[in-house]
Amino acid sequence: MKRDVPDWRTGAVCAQTDLELFFPEKGGQAAPAKRLCAGCPVREACLAAALEQRELGVWGGTTEAERARMRRAGAAA
Ligand code: SF4
Repeated sequence: MKRDVPDWRTGAVCAQTDLELFFPEKGGQAAPAKRLCAGCPVREACLAAALEQRELGVWGGTTEAERARMRRAGAAA
């Protein structure tokens, strides 16, 4: 069965790198993945998807904890 993949993923920098960077273990460093995200042309779409789908790991230059804070801030506004 073919899985639908959003178009924005075709431009993802992480598709050409070690994905383990984007899933650091607890206490691990998110900075290397965030540096790659900073130069990614689909960062905004990635972040929007991660916020909506509650993804794990670093997406759109943010960690899970940072996205949780963003959701709470959005809910409070
Ligand atoms: S912003 Fe980061 S996690 Fe999202 S597609 Fe780009 S490199 Fe991957």
